[in-house]
Amino acid sequence: MAIVVYLETEDGNFKKSALEVSSYGRKLADETKTNLYGIAFNSSDPDKIRKYGIDKLVNIKTDHVFDARIFADLLSKNFKELGGTIFITGSSADSRFIFPVVSILLDASYATNVVDFPSGISPLVLKRSAFTNKGFVFTELKTKYKIIGILNNSYGIFESERKLEVKEYMAESQDSNLQVESIKEDEEKISIADAEIVVSGGRGLKGPENWDLVEDLAKTLGAATACSKPVSDMGWRPHSEHVGQTGKPVASNLYIAIGVSGAIQHLAGINASKCKVVINNDPEAPFFKAADYGVIGDAFEVVPKLIDGLKKFKSR
Ligand SMILES: Cc1cc2nc3c(=O)[nH]c(=O)nc-3n(C[C@H](O)[C@H](O)[C@H](O)COP(=O)(O)OP(=O)(O)OC[C@H]3O[C@@H](n4cnc5c(N)ncnc54)[C@H](O)[C@@H]3O)c2cc1C
Repeated sequence: MAIVVYLETEDGNFKKSALEVSSYGRKLADETKTNLYGIAFNSSDPDKIRKYGIDKLVNIKTDHVFDARIFADLLSKNFKELGGTIFITGSSADSRFIFPVVSILLDASYATNVVDFPSGISPLVLKRSAFTNKGFVFTELKTKYKIIGILNNSYGIFESERKLEVKEYMAESQDSNLQVESIKEDEEKISIADAEIVVSGGRGLKGPENWDLVEDLAKTLGAATACSKPVSDMGWRPHSEHVGQTGKPVASNLYIAIGVSGAIQHLAGINASKCKVVINNDPEAPFFKAADYGVIGDAFEVVPKLIDGLKKFKSR
């Protein structure tokens, strides 16, 4: 028996969620007195994971563009070779594409949206966020192979240095007839999935010309930027920033919503955030009922003052 974690990388670097998945796996491995193995794609510095409790890392080298079936196949094969029984992953969009396929290939049960640490592995009962984060369900995984998909920021990152062994695994090359065009994302931007803090803007900001407010606040806080659905539908912001039921899920530690009404479909995607702050000039806006802190006021007055105050606080 071994516990195996899928360590997601971006441009060769381990994502923050990989460190959280490792920390979770380490604790489970310690409690069950077993080894913790990791599998990553194209890590350029595998040694960086040493601090987070991995005993052995299989670094799969592949030139394949993202394809859930191919990646799932590689993960399943390596999981079995490592003697894995429990597979732990994060909750990124890529993971949610790959792991349903892994679960079919391994004939494994798969619990997504896991928000807590299990009290044991026999039985393995997992607390999961459900009903768009309005409640919890407890799910028992009973199959031989089990997959745990943890929500970002639900466990935390803990260091535990190990004597790491790294094995390189060369995957087959991609079909050379396939032409791949890549688009580089803005390198300075923090991704919504990995962000500790997200600053989000809604239709209350009136137009794209006013987004410097959201961006300035995000920059001051080291946050990612997001928006409501109508904002991206109108082309004020890219679709990659749309959060909510039909957009990206957010599970940040702090979520600041500016000029967002708090419609049920928006809240569905951000409910897992730990602390929600709303700035809205309508005291009846539904967001106030879901928020931990609220400022009733005009965003065009409140946000510049907030940025100013934060800058002064940071320079002290
Ligand atoms: C099937 C379906 C799926 C959907 N999925 C999503 C989704 O994933 N994500 C999503 O966001 N929406 C989604 N929606 C849309 C959702 O129902 C709302 O229409 C949308 O979230 C509203 O966006 P908003 O809050 O930016 O705009 P509005 O509802 O127009 O709210 C703007 C808010 O700004 C405030 N405001 C105005 N001026 C100021 C000011 N100067 N200062 C401060 N506040 C101000 C107003 O009081 C208001 O509360 C979905 C809808 C459907 C039907």
